[in-house]
Amino acid sequence: MSSITNHLPTAELQALDAAHHMHPFTTNNELAAKGARIITRAKGIYLTDSDGNEILDAMAGLWCVNLGYGRPEMGKVAARQMDELPFYNTFFMTSHVPAIALAAKLAELAPGDLNHVFFAGSGSEANDTNLRMVRTYWAQKGQPEKSHFISRNNAYHGSTVGAGSLGGMTYMHEQGGLPIPGIHHINQPDWWSEGAESNDRDFGLARAKELEAKILELGADKVAAFIAEPVQGAGGVVVPPATYWPEIQRICKKHDVLLIADEVICGFGRTGNWFGSQTMGITPDIMTIAKGLSSGYAPIGGSIVSDKIAEVINACEFNHGYTYSGHPVCAAVALENLRIMEEESIVEHVRDVAAPALADELTMLNEHPLVGGVNVSGLMASLPLTPHKESRARFAGNKGDVGFICRENCFANNLIMRHVGDRMIISPPLVITPEELKEFGKRAKKALDATYATLKEKDML
Ligand code: PMP
Repeated sequence: MSSITNHLPTAELQALDAAHHMHPFTTNNELAAKGARIITRAKGIYLTDSDGNEILDAMAGLWCVNLGYGRPEMGKVAARQMDELPFYNTFFMTSHVPAIALAAKLAELAPGDLNHVFFAGSGSEANDTNLRMVRTYWAQKGQPEKSHFISRNNAYHGSTVGAGSLGGMTYMHEQGGLPIPGIHHINQPDWWSEGAESNDRDFGLARAKELEAKILELGADKVAAFIAEPVQGAGGVVVPPATYWPEIQRICKKHDVLLIADEVICGFGRTGNWFGSQTMGITPDIMTIAKGLSSGYAPIGGSIVSDKIAEVINACEFNHGYTYSGHPVCAAVALENLRIMEEESIVEHVRDVAAPALADELTMLNEHPLVGGVNVSGLMASLPLTPHKESRARFAGNKGDVGFICRENCFANNLIMRHVGDRMIISPPLVITPEELKEFGKRAKKALDATYATLKEKDML
């Protein structure tokens, strides 16, 4: 099929796309008027579009192509698995080799007693699993009223009804009647945007203490779990102050509230350790995984759960699961991804080589008059844009207009950086080299300069 569509001219592909394809998180009529950028192939950290442009992908797709594009081993493994066993389910007392091997490998990689894996097709599905599994866990223990979840404003946990409710995106809640009952949101530890005059350590502690206040308000006997990303991703790469996570862990332990770390972005090396929980020094009861598990080469996610939870859940029939839970082709691809990551020491590469090189580029970009600071953990980062650095001021309206202009200027310079509001987001493939990061820095600087010029011209500074 791709050979047919690759031969159509861009305008025809765009017309077909506009006529039949509904894009996620998109005003489709606006896109139809403009025409989608059509990506036809990719290698390493570079995408090629249907007009032959080579674009540096500083977002690793959607924070997922950790190995980089075009690794032939992945396709070979997928083809072999398709020949051998393209599908079988893991319901009804059956199993298969890829699911068994991947679960065992994840138990080995995951910290502490996180030894059990429930597979899903995506991060959203895995968080829906968590919602039902945790409520079932407390019900099985004779505490069915311990069913409430606490999450955070501006968190992202996925797009299904359950995961969208766990998330704290108001623009998502406004559509389709979210959140479902029993889910509560506290403030996020975003010092740059919300810390005003406070220092970040005090601010981090104060935001963590909001969890305790919410638990006491609801009653600890009603609260099942707290869910959070070790570093918020889609919320704008919000790296919490150092005081935040230790206090959260203490509060969860004290009130017997389970801690769910959503590792969908942070997992598999992104922050310079296998898991973001290790970078933040926490021991969660459950980790949500997806994206980097297969480097995005196949759709697969899951929940890695502790011995304590598995002991209870495994003693009952948990009436939950997906046709594609542990899909053999996806599991085989994920295993190959993990094999390559270990063999090529990619987590060490992030920690010792790529993250310091990115930090150098960010330091350089932070000198730009539009950049208000740097949020970074390993190879995930954001640069908040500001009209006034010293006061961390935000642009009038704070609607993301400036971020949008900057993103368009990135495109014009063959660079993909995403914008979340007026923050520019960076999350490149983990295999990126220092030379490639220099090229990223050059293109990002050009895009920032062009944005500055536009803002001056439009009197927006
Ligand atoms: N959790 C986090 C932290 C995410 O970033 C995402 C996706 N961006 C999800 C969950 C949802 O994953 P998916 O899109 O695979 O459903």
